[in-house]
Amino acid sequence: MNVQEFPGRSRAGHINTPGQNMHPVVLLVDDQIMVAEGIRRMLDAEKDIGFHYCSDPSRAVQMAAHLKPTVILQDLIMPGIDGYTLVKDYREDQVTSNIPIIVLSSKEDPHDKSIAFENGANDYLVKLPDRIELIARIRAHTKAYLTRLERDEAFRKLGELQKELQRSNAELQKLTCLDGLTCIANRRRFDDFIRKECLRSARDETTIALILIDIDYFKLYNDNYGHLKGDECLQKVAAALQKAVQRPADLVARYGGEEFAVVLPSTDAAGAMKIADSLRHAVEALELSHAYSPLTNIITISMGIACKVANEKTSPADLIEMADEALYEAKNAGRNQSRVYRSHVG
Ligand code: GH3
Ligand code: MG
Ligand code: MG
Repeated sequence: MNVQEFPGRSRAGHINTPGQNMHPVVLLVDDQIMVAEGIRRMLDAEKDIGFHYCSDPSRAVQMAAHLKPTVILQDLIMPGIDGYTLVKDYREDQVTSNIPIIVLSSKEDPHDKSIAFENGANDYLVKLPDRIELIARIRAHTKAYLTRLERDEAFRKLGELQKELQRSNAELQKLTCLDGLTCIANRRRFDDFIRKECLRSARDETTIALILIDIDYFKLYNDNYGHLKGDECLQKVAAALQKAVQRPADLVARYGGEEFAVVLPSTDAAGAMKIADSLRHAVEALELSHAYSPLTNIITISMGIACKVANEKTSPADLIEMADEALYEAKNAGRNQSRVYRSHVG
């Protein structure tokens, strides 16, 4: 790279990296070495200003992207590429797109100025400029640019924090809806879900079905195999129930203890009975041995089904009461089976 740094000064070493105390860093792009020497002298007493010089315009954008100066001093007339084109090129490069550019021209011409500003220049000086004015402009542009960088960085961090917060909230929302032991929906989620589905059923005049599920002789299982084994059994049953219910609109929840609930929106009694059957088979298929069950030697479930087209007076408690009554019947009838709430099926 055709970089010319002037001896006797280490200021050319200034390259700003975000997070550090930032200084003005100037990159002069000019084919005339005499101009470079003139500018260097002007900046000589300003110990905090870093000065870099590029005499090859074809390397200017690359060098600017590498150095990340806070101001580019850009000559207009150079061999090969004109300064206007370069100004455009800086603007198109992601790294240099916002770096302040002061165009240096050999003459005071409103037309030239207008084109320079159109192409994205920030300022215009006739060379060689007055020392005090040049330094003042370098400092002013640097200050505005660094403020902008800080603001952009703050926005970026804010965006990241907002995303993080959204992720945490989504996670929290998920956790507040999940049962800690079985990882399926918890009672809170069930209550919320069935309330909304009852309202929908009343509004759309569709049937809502609720299946209450209770593990048979689970106390005997717990008492004989221990609470830990009991918990494992609940986890396996929950996973099997969840797997057996496949419509995205349905909800499988842990209702409490060893009881589960399945809410089936837009499902009639026949449909709910079919689902109940597949739930029963899914639990049987786990073949979780229960040597102390008076019924068989594996874990089984009993179910009560309630179906209803809700109206504005229907509460979730009505459905739960109906399903609970049907569950009681299923237990009385010998367990490992389902019953539909009677008055609904006639
Ligand atoms: P039935 O066939 O009539 O339903 O008999 P059951 O023994 O299943 O009924 P019961 O309601 O008397 O027993 C429920 C038992 O479930 C009581 C308790 O030992 C067990 N249980 C409830 N919640 C949990 C739990 O979170 N973990 C474990 N391990 N056991 C639980
Ligand atoms: Mg029970
Ligand atoms: Mg039970």
